[in-house]
Amino acid sequence: MTALEALDIRFPTSRDLDGSDAMNPDPDYSAAYVVLRTDAGDGLEGHGFAFTIGRGNDVQTAAIKALEPFVVGLPLERVVGDLGGFSRGLVYDSQLRWLGPEKGVMHMAISAVVNAAWDLAAKRAGLPVWKLLAQLTPEQVVDLVDFRYLSDALTPEEALDILRAAEPGKAERIARIEREGYPAYTTTPGWLGYSDEKLERLCREAVADGYSMIKLKVGGNVEDDRRRMRIARTAVGPDIRIGTDANQRWDVAPAVEWMRALAEFDPYWIEEPTSPDDVLAHAAIRKAIAPIKVATGEHVQNRVVFKQLLQAGAVDVVQIDAARVGGVNENVAILLLAAKFGVPVCPHAGGVGLCELVRHLSMFDLAAVSGTEEGRAIEYVDHLHEHFLDPAGVRDGRYLPAALPGFSAEMRPEALARFSFPDGPEWRMS
Ligand SMILES: [Mg+2]
Repeated sequence: MTALEALDIRFPTSRDLDGSDAMNPDPDYSAAYVVLRTDAGDGLEGHGFAFTIGRGNDVQTAAIKALEPFVVGLPLERVVGDLGGFSRGLVYDSQLRWLGPEKGVMHMAISAVVNAAWDLAAKRAGLPVWKLLAQLTPEQVVDLVDFRYLSDALTPEEALDILRAAEPGKAERIARIEREGYPAYTTTPGWLGYSDEKLERLCREAVADGYSMIKLKVGGNVEDDRRRMRIARTAVGPDIRIGTDANQRWDVAPAVEWMRALAEFDPYWIEEPTSPDDVLAHAAIRKAIAPIKVATGEHVQNRVVFKQLLQAGAVDVVQIDAARVGGVNENVAILLLAAKFGVPVCPHAGGVGLCELVRHLSMFDLAAVSGTEEGRAIEYVDHLHEHFLDPAGVRDGRYLPAALPGFSAEMRPEALARFSFPDGPEWRMS
């Protein structure tokens, strides 16, 4: 490995309130972006990123740069030929580990670098990441996972059993994914900063576009939420699922009261009702508002908290994020945990590039882990895809598989130049 380049890339999305919610009123979707280079002579690079929403992206970029000595100089095969070992090498540097352990800025930096290594490995194999993962043997998949702290809930032997049980039919499921893609739901109608007219129009468009589920941001003002839920329910009819998302707004009691006030509009789930660290609060809310489901995960920092959420019966839906926990490897662990507990995974996406990445993980889950799409859908938000070489796309309410080898993380060079912060032309104008 010859180079690790870290870039601060920011998109001025706060100008149109795209992405606005109860806790994040003015996000500028950003990527702390990493490029890995080699001397293999094939011109292939590994691209990855951590997603942030503006201020602090410089801190995230510096954290990625701190990993340079653990990457540059490694033989290429030590990276792409041993992605489990490479990932563990980053997680267990004792000095950087102090900054977590396995949480926050440093862990997100590791995620960006690990995902970039997967991008490189998949490009070299000529496969999209989901298919590279799906063609591994159960033993090879288990070797990707760090089972430390998991064995009270999931042992390597149990993981092997899950993966072996999914072997029959795997080839047919891969073929079906290539033909038909994977279920999607859309958050595009539901941003908190949108007018009632825009909400209604986007709800109708979502149904016309073939979605069977939409999602609304809630948690600003309960009467506003009741009005917006009524508009949405009237627009989509009784058969379309409406997820709600509070982005960590509440304590337990207000979460329960608020969701009871919205219950007449039949919300399918409440996402991030409270702190992503608070396992017991999620369990209490879930018990109080059933049959409304509880979903969380986009800010859950690592496999240990996911384990506890599952052990405590605190969630109905696990929402992995492709770029927050320690990259592909830790997400494979979480997919296996969810399969063990029989809980569906409906990934978080949106932001910048998260749709591009996370489709690979769900398609791998369907092909080789859970073996089912029942109760599952990936979030889709129609933002910023044009900046990617292999953009995510949805047809008839289903995500299409990646078109190119790799992890679909690579942004167009002109986008990297234009949105570079603070010196790119987009930021010098403002
Ligand atoms: Mg959310």
